[in-house]
Amino acid sequence: MKKPFLERIKESVLLLDGAMGTQLDAHGIAPGECHEEWNVSHPEVVKQIHADYIRAGSQAILTNTFQGTRWCLDRHGLGDRVGEFNSAALRLARKAAGKGRYVVADIGPTAQFVYPLGEKRQDEFAEVFREEISFLTDGADAIAIQTMTALEELVAGVRAAKQTRLPVIASMSFTPDVGKGYRTIMGVSIEQMVRQLEEEGVDGIGTNCGTVDIADVVKIVRQMRQLTSLPILAEPNAGRPIIVGETTVFDQTPEIMAVHIPALAVAGANIIGGCCGTTPDHIRAFAEKSGIETP
Ligand SMILES: [Zn+2]
Repeated sequence: MKKPFLERIKESVLLLDGAMGTQLDAHGIAPGECHEEWNVSHPEVVKQIHADYIRAGSQAILTNTFQGTRWCLDRHGLGDRVGEFNSAALRLARKAAGKGRYVVADIGPTAQFVYPLGEKRQDEFAEVFREEISFLTDGADAIAIQTMTALEELVAGVRAAKQTRLPVIASMSFTPDVGKGYRTIMGVSIEQMVRQLEEEGVDGIGTNCGTVDIADVVKIVRQMRQLTSLPILAEPNAGRPIIVGETTVFDQTPEIMAVHIPALAVAGANIIGGCCGTTPDHIRAFAEKSGIETP
């Protein structure tokens, strides 16, 4: 019998999966195509990717719903299919995870700015997140709101997610800021993030993606751990992004990344996975060389 998610992550490090986008690319999704639509049009591919991660050792998997809000889907003219895509994603992940592994509902940024930088108010963001989340709760073990750079948007997501009974983890993407440590591109410091999220009553905080590599992520997690006793999620990219022509490349190998995994756990990470550029081979290396026990 599987333990409740929060109980499990407080016990020992939980190994999450790696990137979904990179894997969809490898399976032929075209640039600019809607990833969430593939939950319906290519369910066998999404299922296969989940299965590949589980075979590699992932004890938890993220749903293919990162850009599944109405506002994100609107950019593909698919805004009225929020329920269809998100429900399908949850079904696929749940099936792949079976009874023994965890499914984490993945919520990403809307690519809009909260008023006054943008036109939409914070409560409108919360409503858009609430709509997506309403299709992800029945069968998920937790909700992760990820890759956020603006605190107002993250808080809107947290407030929407807190309306469910599921544990809520809130994660931001950092970039090195000379002389100031790490900040998000919207200028949020680790300290500001932790303070605000503790006030919002989140169940876990974290960092994923960003223009940092795994060695930076070890430092970010260490700083978070000095500020909070909340569980911490860490999903480093496969290296700092490198722009080659019109594409972005992530070039850290599974072996290079895996070397840092024990340090990441010691720094205070409770959930470890991979973001952009990481593959099932990365997760396999994390599982084999990190001391994380996988069934
Ligand atoms: Zn990423």
